[in-house]
Amino acid sequence: PVPFPSDIEIAESADITPVADLARDALGIPAAALVPYGHTKAKVSIPWLTTLEDRPDGHLVLVTAMSPTPAGEGKTTTSVGLADALRRIGENSVVALREPSMGPVFGIKGGAAGGGYAQVVPMVDINLAFTGDFAAIAAANNLLAAMIDNHLHHGNALDIDARTITWKRVVDLNDRALRGIVIGLGGLVNGIPREDGFDIVVASEVMAILCLATSLADLRRRLGDVVVAHTRTKQPVTARDLGAEGAMTVLLRDALAPNLVQTLEHTPAFIHGGPFANIAHGCNSVMATRAALKLGDWVVTEAGFGADLGAEKFVDITCRAAGLRPAVAVVVATVRALKFHGGVPVGEVDREDLAAVGAGMTNLRRHLDNVRGVLGLTPVVAVNRFPSDTDAEVDLVVRMCRHEGVRAYPATHVRDGGVGAEALARGVVEAVREGRSDMRFVYDDHLSLEKKAEAVATRVYGASRVAFEPKARRRLEQIEAEGHGHLPICMAKTQASFSTDPSLRGAPSGHTVTVREVRLAAGAGFVVLVTGEIMTMPGLPREPAAHRIDVDDDGRVVGLS
Ligand code: ADP
Ligand code: MG
Repeated sequence: PVPFPSDIEIAESADITPVADLARDALGIPAAALVPYGHTKAKVSIPWLTTLEDRPDGHLVLVTAMSPTPAGEGKTTTSVGLADALRRIGENSVVALREPSMGPVFGIKGGAAGGGYAQVVPMVDINLAFTGDFAAIAAANNLLAAMIDNHLHHGNALDIDARTITWKRVVDLNDRALRGIVIGLGGLVNGIPREDGFDIVVASEVMAILCLATSLADLRRRLGDVVVAHTRTKQPVTARDLGAEGAMTVLLRDALAPNLVQTLEHTPAFIHGGPFANIAHGCNSVMATRAALKLGDWVVTEAGFGADLGAEKFVDITCRAAGLRPAVAVVVATVRALKFHGGVPVGEVDREDLAAVGAGMTNLRRHLDNVRGVLGLTPVVAVNRFPSDTDAEVDLVVRMCRHEGVRAYPATHVRDGGVGAEALARGVVEAVREGRSDMRFVYDDHLSLEKKAEAVATRVYGASRVAFEPKARRRLEQIEAEGHGHLPICMAKTQASFSTDPSLRGAPSGHTVTVREVRLAAGAGFVVLVTGEIMTMPGLPREPAAHRIDVDDDGRVVGLS
């Protein structure tokens, strides 16, 4: 057999429609509303998007997943394949996804713009500097950091306690050596020495803010609300107190406009914003999703990690903040992940094992029950087919889902492109036409932060209780006393398990969720509850992808996954 081409080989041989033509013909965007970045990428102007406010919204399709194995189960590829398939069956679809971070691109994961024949292009650009959004976010973040240290240097009129500064510097690379650093060394002219550290750009609050902002004015207000430290009398210090939010907004003015590209099959794709799914909400920008809903009849969007994290945060954080309402939730399942949850070691999931597939259904079933019973969304299962899956295994998954009263369809978009997800697309349209989804939040705004955590832990994770370590409880009380108790919570939990123990597969219940740390993201508008080790600056692996990535004499990039 002919070997299957690599993602980059497929992407580089794509025939890309000029973005101005795509914008005009597929979405009716006039040339004057487009800000092209070359011929294949463009931003859509925010003033023009605001003229669409009276148009009805399209249907929002949330793509989520069962608890993933370390390889990822294919939410991005399924989002792309489904959007292409919707177009193939005559629906005006748009896909809205996150921008990849360069950390994983040069680290372990490689590119993050789909795979096989379900990709967005131009793949190399999207995976690297793209339209400069991440550079703008880094600049805005680091401007505030510089202004904090400058304030200390010039007399500290606000009486900031330097030991309480939580605002870090950021860079969009994996660099573990920057996790903990000392700044200001070298004498009087170099400022006040103190401990500091870097996070990766996608873990920054500015990234989360850009993704949740609904307008330039809202962006500016959120940036001003950011709490960076406390004074020596324990009062919070905000970016507004430092007079930084105006200049930060200027740096982000262009970045706030959504980026338009396309899939391999010329489906319009908004790729905009890329917050981490642990310390933040893990979904592309609200600006992009709202633009897509005005321009398309169907909008497919992905939320990071499994449905316990991604779908819950999408509903409780993103939808609550932006007034979005998904019409359906596509739950991506794989035979491999089912076997993994059925007890098969990760290295052996390529071998047929119907009993393990059956046993692993406990995990998928819990997610389906949550999506339907807790979040109020109709689930449709996409069985994302891998080359090692047997027909008997795939049939079993479909039958087990149908037994639960849930539509399920095998999908082969990675191998076949959109045609491989047509049955899924038809199923999604049917499910939406039935109109059963009625999205519900897991908790109300007025509950205390602790009660919100209990609601998510018991109703979504199957836990029996939430415990707070003493330091976490003190911070929680402080945050409530400072007037942030109404905010939604953002759980930072392992994606590998419903519990906080990544080795507990399937559908564990009765466990305790222990919150180790609490962080306020007042600008983003949520309170992060950290339950395990949380990585905000990854390191590179022993063999980083950067070893393989190169450029040939004709300027073609090679080795990008
Ligand atoms: P997620 O968005 O859930 O993290 P991705 O869609 O990015 O997952 O897929 C993770 C990895 O698995 C990618 O490298 C992708 O190319 C690969 N992949 C996804 N689906 C398939 C499939 N059906 N067959 C082969 N490889 C796949
Ligand atoms: Mg993804």
